[in-house]
Amino acid sequence: MTAPTKYPLLFEPLDLGFTTLRNRIVMGSMHTGLEDLPWDIPKLAAYFAARAKGGVGLIITGGYSPNITGWLLPAGAKMSSPIDALLHRKVTSAVHAEGGKIAMQLLHAGRYAYHPLSASASAIKAPINPFKPRKMSDLEIRKTIRDFGNAAKTAKSAGYDGVEVMGGEGYLINQFLAPRTNKRTDKWGGSADNRHRFPVEIVKEIRRRCGDDFIVIFRLSMADFVDEGQTRDEIISLALKLEAAGVSILNTDIGWHEARVPTIVTSVPRGAFTAFTADITRAVNIPVCAANRINMPETAEDVLLRGDAQLVQIARPLLADPEWANKAREQRADEINTCIGCNQACLDHAFVHKKVSCLVNPRAGRETSLVLGPTRAAKHVAVVGAGPAGLSAAVSAAECGHHVELFEASDHLGGQFSYAARIPGKEEFSETIRYYTTMLDKHGVTVHLNTTARVEDLKGRFDEVVIATGVVPRVPSFPGVDHPKVITYAQAISGEKEVGDTVAIMGAGGIGFDVAEFVTTDKSPTLHLEEWNAEWGVTRDAETRGFVTKPHPAPSARSKVYMLQRKTTPQGIGLGKTSGWVHRASVKMKGVEQLSGVNYEKVDDAGLHITFGEDHSEARVLDVETVILCTGQESERRLDEALKEAGVTTHVIGGADLAAELDAKRAIRQGTELAAAL
Ligand code: FAD
Ligand code: NAP
Ligand code: SF4
Repeated sequence: MTAPTKYPLLFEPLDLGFTTLRNRIVMGSMHTGLEDLPWDIPKLAAYFAARAKGGVGLIITGGYSPNITGWLLPAGAKMSSPIDALLHRKVTSAVHAEGGKIAMQLLHAGRYAYHPLSASASAIKAPINPFKPRKMSDLEIRKTIRDFGNAAKTAKSAGYDGVEVMGGEGYLINQFLAPRTNKRTDKWGGSADNRHRFPVEIVKEIRRRCGDDFIVIFRLSMADFVDEGQTRDEIISLALKLEAAGVSILNTDIGWHEARVPTIVTSVPRGAFTAFTADITRAVNIPVCAANRINMPETAEDVLLRGDAQLVQIARPLLADPEWANKAREQRADEINTCIGCNQACLDHAFVHKKVSCLVNPRAGRETSLVLGPTRAAKHVAVVGAGPAGLSAAVSAAECGHHVELFEASDHLGGQFSYAARIPGKEEFSETIRYYTTMLDKHGVTVHLNTTARVEDLKGRFDEVVIATGVVPRVPSFPGVDHPKVITYAQAISGEKEVGDTVAIMGAGGIGFDVAEFVTTDKSPTLHLEEWNAEWGVTRDAETRGFVTKPHPAPSARSKVYMLQRKTTPQGIGLGKTSGWVHRASVKMKGVEQLSGVNYEKVDDAGLHITFGEDHSEARVLDVETVILCTGQESERRLDEALKEAGVTTHVIGGADLAAELDAKRAIRQGTELAAAL
């Protein structure tokens, strides 16, 4: 194979002595929910095979526990018996058939185990888990080391090319490594050497059981981002010991699950943590893999070019696009369906024990059931509305071979999603619009911008009519709603109406929080890495345990901002499980005054008049220049109703179908499923 010109380092093979990886792209471990039950194994095999076919160099599976104490959940995935190995033959052979390599991640949850058997270095409860772990005895520690060796040996017999030992994210091994969770006074605790003993012995045991011709990866926490975490010297000394114990590749990891520094959400700058990786790379002589917020080939190539690492791990980007590696290699990076770091269909699903998929690629994890195969009867399809629902329907239908025309009233693609892309910290969302723009062109969709579709444009001209006309902002009725200081979120974000220096945001849903970010953040959209680090209290100081210090957020761009809702529940509780806390913390850091349980009385020149409670007994006037309505949306269905009256059958998807609880995940999924069924 000739070396590509654009990302030459990314596609350079890596010789590990006994085996060679075809390129530097590692698919990071993600628990999909297909690991736990035997009858899901064929789906898991198809999911991994698609990524191997897509050109990735090495795949790492979701975490499998070496024993039942280490289960994340009761009856979770484990790798300990010949039956486990037999089942997994299907997975490894599917990957090997596509020319890929695959390693199994071995993960002992320790005090993150969500069951009463949980055990850890010390009996200290995690702030994010109701179960208090038991302190492991010396005997149990030694048995656990043997269990890791047995699991690795079983994985080898199942055809895996290697294992990854999970030593980060605050799981058991990390709990042994950090003084925060290891208060032992025996040979497994106290000094750094003692705290290092457990992982080093695990690696030695795996090597002893599996021999030299087996890839052993260790996932090293290079910054814990919790108080009483490890120091840089401790981490580097551990890396050197792991190298000596026989690790083939050091993969890197950042932040414990309980850390209050965001590490993977969309607002984290791309490649934010590679300076930490570079510290490890400089210290050892084995390949090091960089991870976290590397979602496009340019970022990956830059990491390798700077010498920060020899490999890059991408995980969620391979949910978003299984063909990521092939597209990068073939100079088709503009066709990559980029992971936008929203977590909405991956991590947020995993945390509520739902099967993992992807907001921008609903086929992820459904490779065997949601198939966009070539159609036998090409149809002439009209799609009205170029928001996420219409875009996914149009591109997916065209991919199946239908002749598609897309009508969009405005002068641009993206619908409401284009507002999302203007929110500071959500700039990644524009990648989805770029992807669809490229794919509309690639699949020959005829796009009519600035065209409000009417009945006469559609009736009798198409075999199928898809209505994806989306939503419009809800304008509630209260006295003064027509006052010039009242504007919609769409008018504020688009810049159609000016936003004053004092603002009341009416509504505290997802859009309310985004608008709070929009109005409190200075015009320059993306924070530079140094500013971002300061905002979240990340330090590079080698002596500071856990690399966290006091946050120094940038001041709000406006002198006063209120965010209001009628409900009395805490604001933002409905936001995503893994990203909501970041939005809530961000709004607090910017000094937004949050008021709940309010009634909107009126708006006049004095401002927004509110009362509190059922009896309206307490009143307040918020002296603001602008009131921004973030009060939900309503379906735009006028065209559909007119078409139905004219006897035209339609398919209604996305916000046009149902505005309540609408998000882009549903919109894109409905568009794709409809196209597959046409
Ligand atoms: P829309 O996006 O509303 O698109 C409908 C399109 O149809 C529009 O472009 C409109 O011009 C066009 N149209 C209407 N009538 C006609 C006609 N007669 N002829 C031609 N064209 C017509 N969702 C998430 O999942 N995650 C987020 O983080 C997120 N953040 C958001 C942040 C903001 C600030 C906003 C405003 C929304 C956010 N959303 C988010 C919501 C998401 O954007 C919407 O759920 C999604 O856009 C709905 O998709 P849709 O295609 O159904 O409708
Ligand atoms: P939302 O989450 O349903 O919030 C609507 C807000 O408007 C609520 O705070 C509601 O609170 C208020 N409201 C509703 N009807 C009202 C009325 N008649 N008068 C006054 N207030 C009213 O919807 P959204 O914020 O518009 O977001 C739309 C969708 O986009 C959401 O479903 C969300 O999933 C998605 N989105 C997601 C994110 C994300 O980060 N994941 C970000 C942005 C948007 P009260 O009724 O208590 O007043
Ligand atoms: Fe990325 Fe969002 Fe898809 Fe998860 S759901 S893989 S974060 S785009």
